[in-house]
Amino acid sequence: MLPRVCFVIPCFNEEEMLPFTIQKMGEKLQSLIEKELISDKSKVVFVDDGSKDKTWDIIKAATKDNRFLGVKLSRNCGHQNALMAGMSCAVKFADCVITLDADLQDDINVIDEFIQKYNEGYEIVYGVRSSRKTDTFFKRFTAEAFYKLMRAFGVEIVFNHADYRLMSKRAIEYLLQFEERNLFLRGMIPLIGLKSTVVYYERLERIAGKTKYPLKKMLSFAFEGITSFSVKPIKYITVAGFLMFLLSFIILVYAIVQKIKGQVVTGWTSLTISIWFIGGLQLVALGLIGEYIGKIYKEVKRRPLYFIEEIAGDE
Ligand code: UDP
Ligand code: MG
Repeated sequence: MLPRVCFVIPCFNEEEMLPFTIQKMGEKLQSLIEKELISDKSKVVFVDDGSKDKTWDIIKAATKDNRFLGVKLSRNCGHQNALMAGMSCAVKFADCVITLDADLQDDINVIDEFIQKYNEGYEIVYGVRSSRKTDTFFKRFTAEAFYKLMRAFGVEIVFNHADYRLMSKRAIEYLLQFEERNLFLRGMIPLIGLKSTVVYYERLERIAGKTKYPLKKMLSFAFEGITSFSVKPIKYITVAGFLMFLLSFIILVYAIVQKIKGQVVTGWTSLTISIWFIGGLQLVALGLIGEYIGKIYKEVKRRPLYFIEEIAGDE
C-alpha cells in the first residue's frame, strides 16, 4: 500500500510567499501521486503561527481544495511549537510526515528521495544541506561554530540539518512523549533512535518575504539549543574551580618565598593566598551546586526513558 504522506508547513506572516507555495505543493503532490510514490489521500497542512497579515485568509481559501488543510494557532508560538502542533494533527491520519518551510528554501525535488528512503524502512530521514553557498560568510561561520559547540557539549546533532525531515507515524508518536517546554527539535529527534538516514539537498534563496529569523532570534535559538541539551557548561565551572584551587597552592609557595626574601609589603602574602584559595573554593562549591541543578533540570524535563523499536516472540 502506498504511504499516506502529510506535509507540515509552519507559516508566520508569509502572505507574499504562500500563493506560490500552495501552487508548488499542489503540483508536487500531484506528481508524487502520479508516480505512485504516495497515496492519493496525502495532504498538506499549513500551520498559521499567529500571523498578523493575510496568511490565514490565504490558507483558508486554499482548503477549498481538499488536499490542503489549515491549522491556526491563537498567537505566535514560534517555529518549533508550530511544527509540533502541525505534526500532532498530521499524525492522526498520516503514515509519515514531512516538515518544510513555507518559503520552499528546502528544495522540494528531493521529496521523492525522502519517500524512497521511507519505503526502504527508514523511520527518520534528515534533510542535510550539501553546501552553504547561499549563506553569508557570517552565517556560515556562526552555523559551523554552533554545530561544533553542540558536538563538544555532547549533543548528538546532525550537521547542517535544520527542520526539513521525514518522520514515520511511530517516530512522531515517540516525539510527542517528550514533555519539555523548550523545544529544540533537531536535538530531540536524534534521541528517539530508530532507523534513520540523511538525504542531501541544496538550500535555495528565499524568493519572497523576509526571513523570520533575524540575528537576535537566531542567537537566542542557538543558546536555547545548548542550554536545553547540555549541562556540560556547569561541569566546566567545577573544573575551573579545581584548577584555581590547585593554582592557589603554587601561589602559596610563591608568596611565601617572596615573603622570606623580604620583597613584599606587609599583608600582601596573606591577602594573595586567601584570594586564590577562597576563589577556588567558591568556584568548586558553585560547580557542585550546579551539578545538582543540572540533575534537577534533567528530572523536570521528564524525557521518556526508552522507546521500543521491536518486540520478538509471542505476546
Ligand atoms: N516561522 C514560524 N513562526 C515563527 C517564525 C518562523 O512558523 O515565529 C516559520 C516561517 O514562516 C517559515 C519557517 O518557520 O516557514 C522558517 O522561517 P524562515 O524561512 O524565516 O527562516 P530562515 O529560513 O531564514 O532560517
Ligand atoms: Mg527560510
